[in-house]
Amino acid sequence: MNNKPDITIRLSRKDEIRSFGLGEFPRNGVEGKLIRLNIKKDAIDFTGRKRLTKKEWKNVITHELGHNVGINHSDFPKIGTQILGTPRIDRNSIMTSSFNRPLVVLNSKGLSKFDKIATKKMYNNKNTALCSKIL
Ligand SMILES: [Zn+2]
Repeated sequence: MNNKPDITIRLSRKDEIRSFGLGEFPRNGVEGKLIRLNIKKDAIDFTGRKRLTKKEWKNVITHELGHNVGINHSDFPKIGTQILGTPRIDRNSIMTSSFNRPLVVLNSKGLSKFDKIATKKMYNNKNTALCSKIL
């Protein structure tokens, strides 16, 4: 253990990102190091909300953390690798793309059934995990 965080979460700089948040995908078996959050009004306006609640920000951060550990959007079946035991498209997933259906992420009550299956498949068992280098 050291004082260097594996993943840093910070506010975005002016015009740096346009979505609520932006994570980074892993590189060379190491998780993405940065998550940027955008609290600017124009990123939030298109949801019809004036601001996001703590729960909604938690969901945004959960979604971005998913990217940082290598999970793609659940509604873009042509990108990434489908995980055994999960459907090609999971419309209840917290990994739904926020630019397609932002309310799915914001209103999420946590990981969907298939989010949990995918996470277990990727990280549960050191010997069989798809991403064992990250743990
Ligand atoms: Zn995303």
